[in-house]
Amino acid sequence: MDLTIQIPRPDDWHVHLRDGAMLDAVIGYTANRFRYAMIMPNLTTPVSTVRQAERYRERILRAASEQTPDFQPLMTLYCSSELDSSDLLFGYEAGIIKAVKYYPAGATTNSSYGGNNILDFIELFEVMAENNIPLLVHAESTDPQIDLFDREAAFLEGELHPLCEQLPKLQVTVEHISTRAGVDFVLNYPHVAASVTPHHLSRNRSDLLTPEFHPDLFCKPIINSESDRKAIVDIVTTGNPSFFLGTDSAPHPISEKYGEEAKAGIFNAAYGLEVVAEIFAEEEKLENFPAFVSKNGAAFYGYEPSSSQLLLTREQVELDLAAMLSTSDGQQVVLFGLEEASHWTVTAI
Ligand SMILES: [Zn+2]
Repeated sequence: MDLTIQIPRPDDWHVHLRDGAMLDAVIGYTANRFRYAMIMPNLTTPVSTVRQAERYRERILRAASEQTPDFQPLMTLYCSSELDSSDLLFGYEAGIIKAVKYYPAGATTNSSYGGNNILDFIELFEVMAENNIPLLVHAESTDPQIDLFDREAAFLEGELHPLCEQLPKLQVTVEHISTRAGVDFVLNYPHVAASVTPHHLSRNRSDLLTPEFHPDLFCKPIINSESDRKAIVDIVTTGNPSFFLGTDSAPHPISEKYGEEAKAGIFNAAYGLEVVAEIFAEEEKLENFPAFVSKNGAAFYGYEPSSSQLLLTREQVELDLAAMLSTSDGQQVVLFGLEEASHWTVTAI
C-alpha cells in the first residue's frame, strides 16, 4: 500500500494537556501538529472560572515554545455548581471560552466535581442554548448496576436523550463515542455531533483484555466490542459531517497506569493522526480523511479549515517501538500508535 494525501492542518477537538511537568512534556506533540485544540478542564482543581481558564491558557502557550504558527488552545469550563453563568457568558463573548464540559461525577480522571444527573444543570444549558455555547458531554452512566460496556448507551438513553428533547437547539458534542449506540444517537439529532478517538477507531475490547488486561489501552468510556468499533469506523470513513477527530489524548505516568488501580487515559497526541490515517487507508477511504481530521469539527464549531497543509505518505520509517515519553520529573508515559506511525511520514508543506 503506497499512498499519499495532503490535508489542511488538523484540529484536535478533545485533548488533556495536564499541567506542570506533564504539560511541558506533552504540549509539543499537540502544538506542532494541530491547529486548534479543545482543552479539557479536568485539572486536579477543575477549570471552573474564566480567570482560571485564562491562566491555564497562558501556561499552555508558555509551555509551547515550538508551535505551529496557527496553534490555538480553545478553552473550556468544567460544568459544576462552581460554574457561574454570567462569568461563562462574559468569557464566551470575550472569546476566551469556547465550550462547557459536563462530566458525570466519578466517571473518569478528576471528575469528582461533576454532576449526578445532567438535567440538574438545565437552567445553565438554557442560557447556553440561547447564546450558542456548545456543551461537550462525557456520556457515560456511573450507575454500578449497569454493565461497564453498556454505560454509554445507558447515559444517552437516560440523560442525554431527555436533555436534547427539552433543548433541541443546544449544540452538543458526545465526546469520544465508543459504541454503535453513540453513532445512532448522533445521527438522530441535527445539533448533536461526536468526537471520535484514534483508540476507539483502532482497538476493541479483545485487544484490551487478552491475553491479559492492558492498562495502556484502558480509558473511559472503555474500548468496546468489535462490532461497535466497526460501526464507528463505517460512519467516520464516509466523511459524515457530524463526526470529527478528538484524540482524547490523556497522559498518565506508567507508575499510575500499572499501579494498584490503572488510571483511565491513553496518550496518543504523538501518533493519533497516523493511527487514523491507517484506518482510512485500510478501508480505502483516504479521500474522506481530511473531512474527519481537518474539516468537520471546524465547521461544527464555526471555523474555516486551516490554510496550512500537512502531507502524509505511507512509507516505512524507523521507529523504536518501545520508546516512551519522559517528563522532567522522572516519569515515563507509554506512546500509543507507534506501530501505525512506523508506516507513515507526516510533513508540513
Ligand atoms: Zn477526555
